[in-house]
Amino acid sequence: MAGLRFATLGSGSRGNATVVRCGRTTVLMDCGFAVNETLRRLAVLGLTGEDLCAIVVTHEHGDHMGGVARLARRFKLPVWLTAGTYRGAGTPKLPEVRLFNPHEAFVIGDLAIQPYPVPHDAREPCQFVFSDGDQRLGVLSDAGHVTPHMRRCLDGLDALILEFNHDPGLLAAGPYPPELQARVGGQLGHLNNHQAVELLAGVDRQALQHLIAGHISEKNNSPHHVRQALADRLPAEAAELTLAPQDQGLDWHEMVRHR
Ligand SMILES: [Zn+2]
Ligand SMILES: [Zn+2]
Repeated sequence: MAGLRFATLGSGSRGNATVVRCGRTTVLMDCGFAVNETLRRLAVLGLTGEDLCAIVVTHEHGDHMGGVARLARRFKLPVWLTAGTYRGAGTPKLPEVRLFNPHEAFVIGDLAIQPYPVPHDAREPCQFVFSDGDQRLGVLSDAGHVTPHMRRCLDGLDALILEFNHDPGLLAAGPYPPELQARVGGQLGHLNNHQAVELLAGVDRQALQHLIAGHISEKNNSPHHVRQALADRLPAEAAELTLAPQDQGLDWHEMVRHR
């Protein structure tokens, strides 16, 4: 078995993309960056577009899907997405559309991928747990609240990229108009720092080797607020926390194997 590794190309409302690799299988999850910017960020990780096997998409919002169609066409990549996401994006021209049911696992090369639905204001949004058959990386980037099903899917992970979108106080005092504040803070918006911490507190974290805070709002949050929220409740995890930046990627994270 080859082992699971991952890296982010960037995370936040101006663009998201994550690379997950196992053996010769390299999958890009979401692409909210223009093609040239994506290729520039891939190159930092030692990758080119030719190295990618597929793109999997969480939902149709521009910060996740804005760059998907062009990248897919340029490198003839299959795009895996829910029927709702495909329709929500306006059924873009793609070289190969692979529709999946957000309750059913699928396989791309050496990677098993378990999607799970999340409450977010898109047509049929989901998030993913990636596995090499031994270890599991969970991703949760856009959700307005945490459902019991999400908690079950993210239990006992080896690595987790988790949304810490906003601090409720900073959101309320921040520059967003009231409608946008209500959307971001609402049941179909984004997880605030405390929701993220409560999710973590409610799952088995014994195997967790990597904890990455992602989709951090530049206007309604700060690294200090993220770290403080976690430190107040889960100090051991706070000491290990990595924050995913927007303007650059995070280098490869590898897993130490169980067996
Ligand atoms: Zn987003
Ligand atoms: Zn979104």
